[in-house]
Amino acid sequence: DHALHDDFGRLVVTTLRESLEGAAPALGDLDRRAGDGDFGDNVRVAMKNLGRELEGGEPADYRGWVTAMSRAWLGVGGTSGPLFGMFYRDLARAAGDGEVPDLAALAEALAAGQAVVQKYGEAEVGDRTMVDALAPAVTALREAAGSGADAVHALGAAEKAAIDAAKGTAELTARRGRASYVGDSAKGVMDPGACAMALVVGALRAAAGA
Ligand code: ADP
Ligand code: MG
Ligand code: MG
Repeated sequence: DHALHDDFGRLVVTTLRESLEGAAPALGDLDRRAGDGDFGDNVRVAMKNLGRELEGGEPADYRGWVTAMSRAWLGVGGTSGPLFGMFYRDLARAAGDGEVPDLAALAEALAAGQAVVQKYGEAEVGDRTMVDALAPAVTALREAAGSGADAVHALGAAEKAAIDAAKGTAELTARRGRASYVGDSAKGVMDPGACAMALVVGALRAAAGA
């Protein structure tokens, strides 16, 4: 079944909020070991901003929910704030007002999110960034969606690709962001932004299956 259900947008954002809040200490620890240490705080500020976005009442549709996440991240400093902000803005465009995205539209929106992150961040695959988790997830999702897989299986394949790639960032040397200043001493430590991106794809899978 290619359809995503009516509650998809709300579940994506509430699932992701919980997993990012839970992971913030560990993500901060990774950035302390292999960056400048502020990523945990940046995640916390984003989730606090999200709470403020939602204060006035729940968004009406998928686009509204994911736009709230975008606005939350656009208000955060660091490199990740604007990049995640622009990423979610493109992800929100998978569906029009009052609509739920189908799997093909979600795959293309995720691809657009990858493109905007790479346009502004100028990171290629292998530079030890969130792009390393996002790129294989986009490929897996497009392949699965194109071969007629249902939403849960397609997003499951994308999540697995993102998690495997996030783990693989432990072997990479950073060429972008503040982590590039610590060079090879980051070897063995996963990239926190790639881990956060794997949580994003995981939330899409969990929401689709809920
Ligand atoms: P900063 O590096 O400015 O301290 P954060 O700590 O908020 O930024 O975010 C760090 C994460 O952002 C990294 O783990 C990496 O995944 C991601 N990142 C950093 N620079 C880039 C970039 N140029 N393109 C894509 N992602 C990046
Ligand atoms: Mg940092
Ligand atoms: Mg920083």
